[in-house]
Amino acid sequence: MRHNPRKRFGQNFLIDQQIIAQIIAAIYPKKNDRIIEIGPGLGALTRPLLQAVNHLDVVEIDRDIVARLNKEFSQEKLTIHATDALKFDFSAFGNNLRIVGNLPYNISTPLLFHLSQFSEHIVDMHFMLQKEVVDRMVGMPTTSDYGRLSVMLQYRFDMEHVFSVPAESFSPAPKVESAIVQMIPRPKSSMHAQDEVLLSQVVSAAFSQRRKTLRNTLRDFLNTDDFCALGIDSGLRAENLSMEHFVAIANFLEKRLENRVK
Ligand code: SAH
Repeated sequence: MRHNPRKRFGQNFLIDQQIIAQIIAAIYPKKNDRIIEIGPGLGALTRPLLQAVNHLDVVEIDRDIVARLNKEFSQEKLTIHATDALKFDFSAFGNNLRIVGNLPYNISTPLLFHLSQFSEHIVDMHFMLQKEVVDRMVGMPTTSDYGRLSVMLQYRFDMEHVFSVPAESFSPAPKVESAIVQMIPRPKSSMHAQDEVLLSQVVSAAFSQRRKTLRNTLRDFLNTDDFCALGIDSGLRAENLSMEHFVAIANFLEKRLENRVK
């Protein structure tokens, strides 16, 4: 039975068996792993995953695809959650989760931010994404790839570009190159922001105009004395600050707010 790929669900199905084998090798699934696949589609990754693990959970939005999966796989081995991964409460699965998927590229950024909320429940994640997005995720200060996505995700995860995947590995072929990224939650004991909403506000403001200095972009947050106290040159730009700098700024602001409340 043919399935017409739906653009609005970002459907690009993996067809290259060697790439599929490489992805499975990178995930390295073990029998008792608690794996959740986002967007199983026609099962390119689902099938080999099911060979390796006792049980698999998948989250799929497309009802036609859900019906196909229901036909092909036994409910004992595969639990299908027919819903939108963006709205899904991943904490309901418990702890030690391993999340994988060839993600729908049209929702990759919101989905990564959504999943960030559940980092305490997660052991690791392996995703196929647009290569350009992976470059931004692992981007380092002073490079053009470095931005809000880099800082906010690097705050939560250690990330690695595992390998690139050419467009021909999919049907239909996407217009862009892709890459596999591995994401491992950083230990809670490492650099921690007291107020993560504040961290996100500071990072967004700093990168809102990349070419402007911090003195300008962060003027609602920090004055000259504050920059001095933090030991940060206000003539720098957002791209010059490390994730640790941003956390330090957020914690400085949080402390000041707290002192005011007292
Ligand atoms: N894993 C398959 C399919 C990848 S295409 C393969 O590699 O071949 C992306 C898949 O994500 C599709 O099955 C699509 O229907 C599904 N999808 C798209 N948006 C989704 C969402 N918001 N929540 C869950 N699944 C979604």
